[in-house]
Amino acid sequence: MAGDTVVYLDYNATAPMRPEAVEAALAVFRNVGNASSMHHPGRSASTRVESARNHLADLLGCSAKEIFFTSGATEANNLALHAAYARGGHIVTTSVEHPAVLETARAITAEAPETLTVVPVDSDGEVNLPSLFAALDGGDVAVVSVMIANNETGVLTDLNPIIEAARAAGALVHTDATQYVGRLPLDLNELDVDLLSLSAHKFGGPQGVGALFLRRGTSLPYRPILVGGGHERGWRAGTLNVAGIAGLGAAAEAARQRLAVEAERSCKLRDALEAAIVTAVPDCRINGAHGARLPGVTSVTFPGVPADAVLASMPEVAASDGSACSSGAQTPSHVLLAMGLSREDADSTVRFSLGYATTEQDIEKAAAAVTRAVHQVRAVMSGTASP
Ligand code: PMP
Repeated sequence: MAGDTVVYLDYNATAPMRPEAVEAALAVFRNVGNASSMHHPGRSASTRVESARNHLADLLGCSAKEIFFTSGATEANNLALHAAYARGGHIVTTSVEHPAVLETARAITAEAPETLTVVPVDSDGEVNLPSLFAALDGGDVAVVSVMIANNETGVLTDLNPIIEAARAAGALVHTDATQYVGRLPLDLNELDVDLLSLSAHKFGGPQGVGALFLRRGTSLPYRPILVGGGHERGWRAGTLNVAGIAGLGAAAEAARQRLAVEAERSCKLRDALEAAIVTAVPDCRINGAHGARLPGVTSVTFPGVPADAVLASMPEVAASDGSACSSGAQTPSHVLLAMGLSREDADSTVRFSLGYATTEQDIEKAAAAVTRAVHQVRAVMSGTASP
């Protein structure tokens, strides 16, 4: 992105589409064909869909038969939780989940709110395991849903102890892996979750397409949300988004081939950005920095400096003052509040997220812009400079 007027550091909201994904989607747009049709154009659309399914399966370490395409992670999360809840029993989740999990869980348990347990996190954003184990000990848990990587802080969760405890309690495990897939290696032969959600646009595919992984043999009541023509083996009716799915497949393959290199690069660039910010604004705080995090994300609190003012003072940098999904709604980040930040600190937090196309020059430019913006807002607030 070097050379562009805006340095794009909002990959967790959406990543730029990879050139391979653009080409794959365009190739579909240039041709006709419904993947359900039996004639030649239909067959070639279906071939593209199945090739994408194979690429995604390669990225995840699962079988293509375990993948169901959806319109994104929101739908995959809805599908997973609806079906799992239909087993009977409770939902256990955490206070830092994306609204696509938290609000879905609240909605489907609305008539029996006692069947939902929301487990807290500590000040590093890590799930409070004793509380989660206690919820499982209560018995009667249908599904435990815990994200593997947080969208606002990048904090990673080691799911293995959670999976072990859930298995012992007879509960299914779902993970929202939207921010993790394509950014860090994932092998579903080893990570024994039953259900996993993802969205293509976080790893360089198009928006509006994603998938649900449903492990073969998982005992799940058949509860599709979209009922109709029986597409995706009855789990998700509606004509397949062939262009989107082809783009997803190409992005998955490109991400798989460069996973290790990109992760290391992103980590170095993120660390360089953090180091520059900490040097220039020594009283800033990096949220969730004590544990393992995604490589390209940093959540920085500038005490007493409203994030919206910082962002407005550096139009040459595209970053976020929290989760893009909730921007516009003037509510502080539920993730940061759950980690114990005050409302004021939550409102003074900027998320920078970078990825495969970010350059060193981008980081230098962004670091200079952030430094200038924070000092400028502080000067205006203390009355030593005019706005
Ligand atoms: N889960 C997480 C962790 C996310 O970051 C997002 C996107 N912000 C979603 C779910 C929803 O993804 P989509 O909007 O693509 O459905």
